[in-house]
Amino acid sequence: MHETTLGLRIDVDTYRGTKTGVPNLQKILSLHGVTASFFFCVGPDNMGRHIFRLLKPEFLKKMMRSNAPNLYGWDILFKGTVLPGPVIGKKCRGIIRSIAMDGHETGLHAWDHYQWQAHILKMNRSEIFNTLQKGFESLAAITGKIPVSSASPGWICNDEILEIKERLPFLYNSDTRGSHIFFPMAGNRILKQPQIPVTLPTYDEIIGRRGICEINYNEYLLSLIKPGQLNVLTIHAEAEGIHCLNLFENFIRQALSMKIRILPLSELIKEFSSKGLSRVVSKEIKGRHGKVAIQANMRRELKK
Ligand SMILES: [Zn+2]
Repeated sequence: MHETTLGLRIDVDTYRGTKTGVPNLQKILSLHGVTASFFFCVGPDNMGRHIFRLLKPEFLKKMMRSNAPNLYGWDILFKGTVLPGPVIGKKCRGIIRSIAMDGHETGLHAWDHYQWQAHILKMNRSEIFNTLQKGFESLAAITGKIPVSSASPGWICNDEILEIKERLPFLYNSDTRGSHIFFPMAGNRILKQPQIPVTLPTYDEIIGRRGICEINYNEYLLSLIKPGQLNVLTIHAEAEGIHCLNLFENFIRQALSMKIRILPLSELIKEFSSKGLSRVVSKEIKGRHGKVAIQANMRRELKK
């Protein structure tokens, strides 16, 4: 019988998430002997600029459904709207470093999460490289280690960004939603950094939908994790690390009692030795605003 593995990816988007959520998660993971992959933002926290999205009705609906003000805190929603945001890598150096010292994998989420989500698709190649390099160098200086990987904020990514990432020594990237580990095809080129897609939905994508609430959330999430297939979960330091900390600790307890082996993402590369080729396309998914990068079916793409 195949064993069940779960790649655990922790995205850290904000100053509050780094300062409060990361140490909370670090304690729980160490209590249960689990190591994971942390993806940090090390530049300014300008997430408050997202407040403009409140003016869009679909975002307001999502905020109400997932109780976002409570989840993220009003301070996060307004941060960066009036004053420049704090530089996370400066203020939280010790916290980020201790995650790397604890044996967790450290990767780059972004230099500036807000800038990536709002502007990356409009930037030229050198601007994209510069923001990646700035984040990469800053994270390397903080941890004293080469960042193992990178994960685009909001799963906003395309072939051009993937090509530019090849100029940095990432062992893998995790920029997409999909079903199995693959090498991305960009035009006629096979890119050399494998892509480990996220296979499971995030908290804010499913809570409040189809009868899923805090009571049955973990049961639902665990039902999606199956032996012999790639299982990759993203949690957020701002959500599971603060507001949903008890819910997440229960998830870890239940997963371990079900003999699910929780791993940093790089270990999945060894677990799944056969890797196909896929194209990356941009599509909308349920529960998330805007388009995200998705692993496409390669055979179907080739027939075109
Ligand atoms: Zn993020």
